[in-house]
Amino acid sequence: MARIAVGGFQAEINSFAAKKTQYEDFLDIALRPYAQRATPLLEGARQTNWGISGFCAEALQRGHEIVPTTWAFAQPAAEVTDGAFESICGDLVAGIVAAGPLDAVFLCLHGAMVAESYEDADGEILRRVRAAVGNIPIVATLDLHANVTREMVALATVLVVYRTYPHLDMADSGRRAAQLLDSILMTGRAPAKAFRKLPFLIPPVWQCTTIEPAKTLYAKLAASETGPVVSLSFAEGFPGSDIRDCGPAVLAYAEHQDDAERAAAALCGLVEEREVDFAGHTFTPEAALAESQRRYDGRPVVLADTQDNPGGGGTSDTVGVLRALLDSQVTGAALAVFYDPAAAAAAHAGAIGSELELSLGARPPSAETPVRGRFVVEALSDGTVSCKGPMLRGQTLRLGPTALLRLGGVRIVVASARIQPYDQEIFRHLGVEPASQRLLVLKSTVHFRNDFEAIASAVLIVDSPGINVTDPRRLEYRKLRADVRVSPLGPTLNELRSHRG
Ligand SMILES: [Zn+2]
Repeated sequence: MARIAVGGFQAEINSFAAKKTQYEDFLDIALRPYAQRATPLLEGARQTNWGISGFCAEALQRGHEIVPTTWAFAQPAAEVTDGAFESICGDLVAGIVAAGPLDAVFLCLHGAMVAESYEDADGEILRRVRAAVGNIPIVATLDLHANVTREMVALATVLVVYRTYPHLDMADSGRRAAQLLDSILMTGRAPAKAFRKLPFLIPPVWQCTTIEPAKTLYAKLAASETGPVVSLSFAEGFPGSDIRDCGPAVLAYAEHQDDAERAAAALCGLVEEREVDFAGHTFTPEAALAESQRRYDGRPVVLADTQDNPGGGGTSDTVGVLRALLDSQVTGAALAVFYDPAAAAAAHAGAIGSELELSLGARPPSAETPVRGRFVVEALSDGTVSCKGPMLRGQTLRLGPTALLRLGGVRIVVASARIQPYDQEIFRHLGVEPASQRLLVLKSTVHFRNDFEAIASAVLIVDSPGINVTDPRRLEYRKLRADVRVSPLGPTLNELRSHRG
């Protein structure tokens, strides 16, 4: 039996977002301290889908002792302030030190965190934990969007990356990490490591593993994790983080160095062969509405408002798609999740059935103008949503005071927290049956697919204002290495700069 400290500290950073990630953003909407979250996570370990819950379930089953420390998560925005980073990382490291003596540490990290003073914030967390615990195994799970660095790989004994987007396998990744740790503890030997960065960035919307080429690539990856290769990972990266080492990477762990190198090289080769396929079609809102008429088969057509996805740093209050819906006078359309706490509060101050004169969305510094109109308040809630879909089954989302507002033929879920529509229950808890809609507008890039793809006649990716840009060629990188291609088969950053003059 081993004594293992567990903890986590996660944020996916979009350097181009307007607002930094503050300490308060790691508290939940009820302002409960993040530090109280580790223990409830362990209590729900067998039900919830997080790396830490899967790790703990597997490690406990194998007879190990788990010591929870700190677990903190924030929705994506710009750099984590130094104050927030020092405070939370300090708590995490202090918790791990206080848990000693230890045989191992498990960390539930994201891999695309950037702090004001640390480009590679996950590397810095690992460096501090390594300094605190010395030469014992440190294993960690990373998000599929991790921008993995050489330092992270060197500091951790093993890093295990999710293999699905939508992230259905977060807990499974934690279980894999626990199995690997178990064998390291039993043999007393850590595996050899190989690490490679890919030479191009992949827009998140084309990273989805329910479509090609990622679907086939991850199937081949799983099949290659055999014989001497004990763990193989492909992190697709998060292009919104403006750091030197942004972008996809491959990690291989094996009994011997040459096996690890061979496996990493082979997987890189497979990804590079499919570079051309990391591309798809996007629609203007107007073109998407026209296309939705052709594609409607009695089930809703989903318009993914990907650029305003809060999960990629979006403000969730851009109005491009909403305005197109209103202009075309559609009926049977529902939109989620629109972030406008002032509008939600105004709705809550009135009564269900009342009408409300409102300016919705497009808060400063938005270049858009808000949507003005007389909205009908159709339903109100405290925003507590019990998820039933495959990704977040058993988890509770807290949207804060929430209202269902209707303008013309469009129903809008207006919330007080910036959360993407992961689950059909976000509509249902307000009395809207998503499957009965003609159009569903979802401010999400890929995660919505876990619960909405099966009920949709089609999914159309829409280009509308938002910070989570689909085409990284539109981003003004300052720190990214200059020889990387900023999109699949696209120009390198160097070429892009000389073209811009
Ligand atoms: Zn992710």
